[in-house]
Amino acid sequence: MVLLNADTAGSTPPDAPPAGAVDLRFRTALARLQRAGRIRAVTGRRDTDLEIASILKKLDGNQALVFPDVAGHGVPVIGNLLASPANCEAAFGLGFRDIRELIIRCFAGDGLAPRVVPDGPVRQNVITDGIDLGKQLPALRHAPGDGGRFITAGVVLARHPETGIWNASYHRLQLLGGSRTAIRLDLGRHLRSAFAAARQAGTALPIAVAIGTDLSLLYTAATMGSQMPEERDELAAAGALAGAPLEVLAGITQPVLVPAHAEFALEAVILPDQEVPEGPFGEFVGYFSDTGPAPVVEVTALAHRDDPVYFAINGAGRETVMLRKYVLEASVLKVLREAVPIVSDVDMTEGGLHRFHLNIAVSKKGPEHEGLQRNAALAAFGALKDLVRVVVTDDDIDIHSARDVEYAIATRCDAARDLVIIPGARGHEYVRVSDRGVLTKWLIDATVPPGERQRFTRVPFPDQPVSSDDLAQCDLFSNW
Ligand code: MN
Repeated sequence: MVLLNADTAGSTPPDAPPAGAVDLRFRTALARLQRAGRIRAVTGRRDTDLEIASILKKLDGNQALVFPDVAGHGVPVIGNLLASPANCEAAFGLGFRDIRELIIRCFAGDGLAPRVVPDGPVRQNVITDGIDLGKQLPALRHAPGDGGRFITAGVVLARHPETGIWNASYHRLQLLGGSRTAIRLDLGRHLRSAFAAARQAGTALPIAVAIGTDLSLLYTAATMGSQMPEERDELAAAGALAGAPLEVLAGITQPVLVPAHAEFALEAVILPDQEVPEGPFGEFVGYFSDTGPAPVVEVTALAHRDDPVYFAINGAGRETVMLRKYVLEASVLKVLREAVPIVSDVDMTEGGLHRFHLNIAVSKKGPEHEGLQRNAALAAFGALKDLVRVVVTDDDIDIHSARDVEYAIATRCDAARDLVIIPGARGHEYVRVSDRGVLTKWLIDATVPPGERQRFTRVPFPDQPVSSDDLAQCDLFSNW
């Protein structure tokens, strides 16, 4: 396995998607990460109550962290798994451009239907009597102010009772004691509409929850919006992403499908007739959600592998937002390639939580391309509802570098002419400054007209190969 670094990650042209199937099982990904030196073990006994999440936050955005000794639990916790670009590339064994091409595969066509297999490692241990999630899972309390302990990395699989279409999505589960959790179903979520249809019929909604599962499912569950409408079957979409069907087992206590290679899998129902207060919870935007009413989940089976590892996503940590970075970049790339042929690359920036701020690079070849850079920004706003700010630059700017993008703004943007504001548009209601999701979008055009490229040519330096072997400790000034 060769770990692609920032220098080699971009070597595959963006129009050459990786061919065929990619092994994206959770343990394959962990093995790749370990081989690439991207997992660190945290020594000492560590507590699920605030301590583990605080360490995850403190060391955010770098290597994955595994906590082998968790107080009161015989199960290790792993976090910050996909919380940095380097980790994502190591986990897939691919550069980020190729990861995005895999995700684009999941947006196209009918996908690859899952393959039901008779047995799988997730079934090595099954508990149906005496389920006590708080004892059996090292679920974390993440932040002081959180309403309790939450399962956060669970991918919820549910079949719409009327259409029969499978949905995969992230929903945090707040432990309520014993076999019960709360599940918040925000407006517009596809699971909410499946639950509403079940409740209308007076029945509970069967679900499976996979914790520590295939990367294909982890990324498909992070899709949303117009690229993954409710009519698309997300188990099949996960198959398309991997280039091979997702292996699943038939549920033993519920009519559900369970990912065969997950670390943990719950079978459960969302009860039609009960509501409890859920939250607060430190959210991805870095603020706490309010306490609100939520339906109740009753878990009927808890299955896990021998020697499982429990995957936790830190609520207000970088992993939460990193899981959407390449999904949103793939979404917007797909739209921009179709709409504006001069777009060469995109980046959902870190400071914008990989959700609200986008950089676009364009290659304007002649006067017929002038203005298309603004069309690209407007198309991006149309593609990604939550987008607030777009910066467009020419392709000699490294849009993955905040410093280089600021350089483009500093030297190529005249605000009176190149700053465009669009008030009264819809974004995400979690953006605190918005009026329940209505806010001002803005774009910065930091490109130069094609005829002026010469005047804006950056000072070139010939590339000199210099390695660390060429550098020595300085002793010239020892006697000064
Ligand atoms: Mn969906």
